[in-house]
Amino acid sequence: MQKHLNRSFPELQAGMKQCRLCLKEGFEIYPPAVFSGLESAEMMTIGQAPGITEQEAERPFNAGSGTRLFGWLGRAGIEEEWFRSTQYMSSVTKCYPGRHPSGSGDRVPSRREQELCRPYLSKEIEFVNPQVIIPIGRLAINLFFPKKLKLQDIIGTQKEVEGRWIIPLPHSSGASRWHQIEENRQLITDAIKLINNHRVRIFPA
Ligand code: SF4
Repeated sequence: MQKHLNRSFPELQAGMKQCRLCLKEGFEIYPPAVFSGLESAEMMTIGQAPGITEQEAERPFNAGSGTRLFGWLGRAGIEEEWFRSTQYMSSVTKCYPGRHPSGSGDRVPSRREQELCRPYLSKEIEFVNPQVIIPIGRLAINLFFPKKLKLQDIIGTQKEVEGRWIIPLPHSSGASRWHQIEENRQLITDAIKLINNHRVRIFPA
C-alpha cells in the first residue's frame, strides 16, 4: 500500500525514494527512484525509465539522451539549467530496470512494473499540475495516445488532456534510430515549435 500517495508533495517524493515495490515482486530493479524538479513547474517531461548513468547520478536524462533532449528543447528557447531547476522531470517507472537479458541496451519495464509505478506518476501530475506535459518515447507516449498510432502520426502534434497540452517527443537515446531518420527530423522540428509556442505563452519575456 502506497500510504504516502495522498499526503504532501515532499512526502510523495520521499515515498518514491524509499519504494521497493518492484523488488518485492521479484523484478530486477535498482532503486532509488529518479526524478527532479519543483512542484510549481508548468512543464513536465515523462521519460521511460532511468538508465544506469541517471541512476548513479540520481538525475533524469543525465547522459547522452539528455544532451540530445536539451539540444531539441534548446531550439524551443529552453535552457537545460533553467529547466532542470524550475520545471519537473519524471518517468513511467522511476528505478533503473537493469540491462536487457540479451545484453543489448536496458530492459524495458514490464507492464506490471508500469502498473506498480503508475500511482506515483498520477500523483506527481496531480501535485505539479503542469500546463504542458512532454512524454518522451513510446512507453510515455502510450499514456496519452492510442498504441495503434505510429510515432510518425503523433510526433509534431499536440492534444489537450484534462486541461493540459501533451506534446510528445521520440526517445532521445543514441540507441533510438527513429530520430536519426531524415524525414522524422521535420516532425521533431514541428514538435519543438509547439513547445516553443507554449513556453512563450507560459513564460512571457
Ligand atoms: S519503479 Fe516505481 S514502483 Fe517500482 S520500485 Fe521504483 S518507485 Fe517503486
